[in-house]
Amino acid sequence: MTPIKMVDLKGQYEKIKKEIDENILQVIESTIFINGPKVKEFQTHLENYLGVKHVIPCANGTDALQVSLMALGLKAGDEVITSPFTFIATAEVVGLLGITCKFADVERDTFNLDVTQLEKAITPKTKAIIPVHLFGQSCNMEIIMQIAKKYGLFVIEDACQSIGADFIYKNGEKKKTGTIGDIGCTSFFPSKNLGCYGDGGAIFTNDDELARKLRGICNHGMFEQYHHKLLGVNSRLDAIQAAVLDVKLKYLDEYNATRRKAADFYNKMFENNPNIEIPAISSFSTHVFHQYTLKLKNANREKVIEKMKEAEIPVMVYYPVPLHLQEAFGYLGYNTGDFPITEKLSECVISLPMHTELTEEQQMFIGRNLIGGLGLS
Ligand SMILES: *Cc1c(COP(=O)(O)O)cnc(C)c1O
Repeated sequence: MTPIKMVDLKGQYEKIKKEIDENILQVIESTIFINGPKVKEFQTHLENYLGVKHVIPCANGTDALQVSLMALGLKAGDEVITSPFTFIATAEVVGLLGITCKFADVERDTFNLDVTQLEKAITPKTKAIIPVHLFGQSCNMEIIMQIAKKYGLFVIEDACQSIGADFIYKNGEKKKTGTIGDIGCTSFFPSKNLGCYGDGGAIFTNDDELARKLRGICNHGMFEQYHHKLLGVNSRLDAIQAAVLDVKLKYLDEYNATRRKAADFYNKMFENNPNIEIPAISSFSTHVFHQYTLKLKNANREKVIEKMKEAEIPVMVYYPVPLHLQEAFGYLGYNTGDFPITEKLSECVISLPMHTELTEEQQMFIGRNLIGGLGLS
């Protein structure tokens, strides 16, 4: 059996090496490394795939979120509501811009924002909600959009982990995550479902005026050459990364289907185990399993992790410290007990290897060791 990795980018590359190498070589031969036709081609292909009017490529997912807040004109004194159970980038950019980050607790089952908790966090200063489609499935966007409309709030979707996942409306209509709110953000970090070979990100919107503003802010606040209307940033997707992404986009649905299949295989091993709760999938979303995350019940997570380490199986805890309890957010004044569901989740979750190259043999080995680690095999 080949060594097990949390993410196997090498195995995936081997299968598409010829196409990737050729496309990268074309960029080098052209010497157009910034913007240019490759970036534009990828942008158009991604717009078509997502069914969204504008894709604005940028340097990474964190920038995508920051530029979105800037384009909406949010500033110090405003408040933004997001989940405390996410990667720090979501809330970090809010804080960096001097905007006050307010958290609302998540649902135990799906790890996503609990829409019944949202309204409690809204104040007259609230300007936006950032739903995070964590681990690859959508938040309840139909309700979130209704709440946003009722209070006149912007919605910025953090779709960094959910590219390709569909939100399913009550009437059966489907839309890709990231294309429902005013703005959607994604990351092409190598380990994401659509990852490049370095850093990359993109912003999505259906609004022409917002798209123009987002593009300008990504380019030093420049809307006309060397005329700077506002202070922006330098955030670009380079052409070599676009060349990689344009090839991988063709395989995205296949990659996501492979992840779902691997998740099903894990589910079958764990579904009857009294100490394991398998990932719940909501009725209003498809799941692209950026992470396969279990909840352990009446088990010692440290011991389980130790046992997996001994068997050379990588596992991760996403996320061990909720954002409201991070030192960096101490100034917000939150305390232990403020978001009990998030706090409980951070103590019991464990993510297993999940990628497009997992074999059933590897998964069986992982499953046996996990169950063994629980002292129940
Ligand atoms: C990865 C990630 C980001 C940041 O993306 P980068 O490209 O690493 O800057 C933001 N939010 C979430 C939920 C992520 O998973």
